[in-house]
Amino acid sequence: MPEQSPNNFAGIEVALATMRGVLISEAGEVIGRRESTYEPENLISAIADLTKALRESGEIRSVGVAIPGLVNRETDRVLISTGLPFTAQEHIHAELMQATGLRFELENDANSAAYGEYKAGAGRDARDIFYIGIGEAIGGAIILDGKLWTGASGCAGEIGHITIDTEGAECVCGNNGCLETTASGPNIVRRARERLNRDSTSSLSSLAMQEDFTASDLALAATNGDDFSIMMLERTGRSIGIAVASIINLLSIEKVILGGAIMGAGDLILKPIIEEAGKRSFQPCFEATRIVAAELGTNGVAIGAALLARDADGSEARP
Ligand SMILES: [Zn+2]
Repeated sequence: MPEQSPNNFAGIEVALATMRGVLISEAGEVIGRRESTYEPENLISAIADLTKALRESGEIRSVGVAIPGLVNRETDRVLISTGLPFTAQEHIHAELMQATGLRFELENDANSAAYGEYKAGAGRDARDIFYIGIGEAIGGAIILDGKLWTGASGCAGEIGHITIDTEGAECVCGNNGCLETTASGPNIVRRARERLNRDSTSSLSSLAMQEDFTASDLALAATNGDDFSIMMLERTGRSIGIAVASIINLLSIEKVILGGAIMGAGDLILKPIIEEAGKRSFQPCFEATRIVAAELGTNGVAIGAALLARDADGSEARP
């Protein structure tokens, strides 16, 4: 009897200083989880070590790695990444295969998260989705008829860099007033800080007592009834809603799925997004679109990367 190759797939999300890994079965069920921190100069060995740790939960057929950057999947090259050390970008794919003896797939992190939601999360009943990931930055991805649509340059879906305020703050991309300058995690915190310093009534907020707070802390405070945090989320939601209206008018997409820690605040952020999108989009398009929160949670990017590795493996069609 021929030896059976293992039917598990690993997915690894490479973030700025941390990595999150999952092992999934062929059916997509999560059977192992690991996390680690890394130094940029040890990127390859850190991914190899995390892969080894995931192997403790079962043998691995191939690995998907999601990175914060633009990836050419034809050539397996990282084209641009502000999050990865430059030296790691060129040969990451070949070095990972060499270090582990496994097959690797590289993909952008927002694309991976979108694929995960499409296959196993909030998008599983939809044909076409637009995914928006709100974290350190704001990423986006488009899936049409089951396929990631990356466009002529590979960077289609960069919703974080849509202008929502022509007078707005300068953005890392060189433009000013991008959605990211208002609604990414660090920018939500920046705006909240500015307002806490400016507005004396906001000193009642539980956040005024915290030295350092993150966008997740703000979401949690809002959930606990903190008026200031609720107001900040509402304003943030309105900015995101402006961008979502553009997506709806442009693509008349079936589902817009929003992920990231801030979405943990549920309706406190989702409602203003939907209201603003409804106000600013063409009604027949709006009525045909559902705007929902992502379902896969903190492992969503890693799960998506594992599913990409699974579906790139072999030519057999999978549902
Ligand atoms: Zn920008």
